[in-house]
Amino acid sequence: MDLKQITIPTPLDVGPINVYLVRHDPLTLIDAGPKGRDSWQSLEGGLRQYAIRVRDIRRLVLTHSHEDHSGQAGAIQEASGCQIAIHGWELETLSRRGDYSLYKSLLRSCGVPQDVIERFQQGYLRFRQFYDPVKEATQLQEGALLDFEQGGLQVIHTPGHTPGSICLLEPATRTLIAGDTVLEKISPNPLLNPDPQSSEGDRSPLTGWQARITDYQLSTVKPDITDHGRVHDSTVRNPQSAFRGPTSIHRFRALSAYLESLKRLAELAPTLCWTGHGQPVYDLAWYRRGMEEFIAARQHKILSLLRQANWTPWLLSLRVFPNTEGVHKFLALSEITSHLDYAQTIGKAQLEVCDGVEYWRSVE
Ligand SMILES: [Zn+2]
Ligand SMILES: [Zn+2]
Repeated sequence: MDLKQITIPTPLDVGPINVYLVRHDPLTLIDAGPKGRDSWQSLEGGLRQYAIRVRDIRRLVLTHSHEDHSGQAGAIQEASGCQIAIHGWELETLSRRGDYSLYKSLLRSCGVPQDVIERFQQGYLRFRQFYDPVKEATQLQEGALLDFEQGGLQVIHTPGHTPGSICLLEPATRTLIAGDTVLEKISPNPLLNPDPQSSEGDRSPLTGWQARITDYQLSTVKPDITDHGRVHDSTVRNPQSAFRGPTSIHRFRALSAYLESLKRLAELAPTLCWTGHGQPVYDLAWYRRGMEEFIAARQHKILSLLRQANWTPWLLSLRVFPNTEGVHKFLALSEITSHLDYAQTIGKAQLEVCDGVEYWRSVE
């Protein structure tokens, strides 16, 4: 498969982002870059090397909905009329009707003070400058196959960094396009998010926008692939089904999901992983071992603090990451909540909820 990497600058701390061009029919871009003049010009310049214009793009696949990956998706669609495809669990964020009240209730349960929640909300709103809304998108599911005149890319749902993160695998060469699930130099922070399977009852933000989500009726995606023996049909007949579930808002158990996703990817034994930021990773087994060691060391630190006292997630995040500012405080809290939830899953920590706030302690 003829795959080209185009690197696009971002004004964000994460640095430049890699997007990928698949030079086969239908001409496909994987990830878009953030909204911004430099970003647009870099994309145009990158495409120009291959005598391609933005308006030639027929399909845009997004590995997840973060602004650095999806911010100029709306503008690309506007210029080209291309189809945009993303996992169903990312649709709400992509629609940009994400309701911050969901995050507020998650933050309150972590013991975050009200003034800090308001600062987080302002930061969240500031990110609006990095994206244009997307008018129409198509939902991808685990196992969908993106067909090209030559070869295909298989959608691997890899929840963790976000609930609906996907990787794309070219089975013939075992080449993986990994988005932010595999990053060469930074750990892909499993972010604090509502669980997409357990929060429908408390929100209805998708009405109207979802009505414009198209059915995947094109030949580019086939019903296909078995997952534990079950046949999945990737055609979307009821887009809202992605958000069906029990009524209360739960946190997405990001770290458990991430470790499971890494295990699954390692089992696919890719020979090359193209990353969302930085250089490619060639040895995923080695990468996975490194990540697991890093995660185990942090678990160890958190569990030793839990043995000394009871902590709210917020106070624990300040203790473990004392020198963070701004959005990094949110990232630090995300890291802590994902570790606490994981520690609970493996039976090492438990929580008590008092007045709606979580207090965590060690089981040992
Ligand atoms: Zn990301
Ligand atoms: Zn990213």
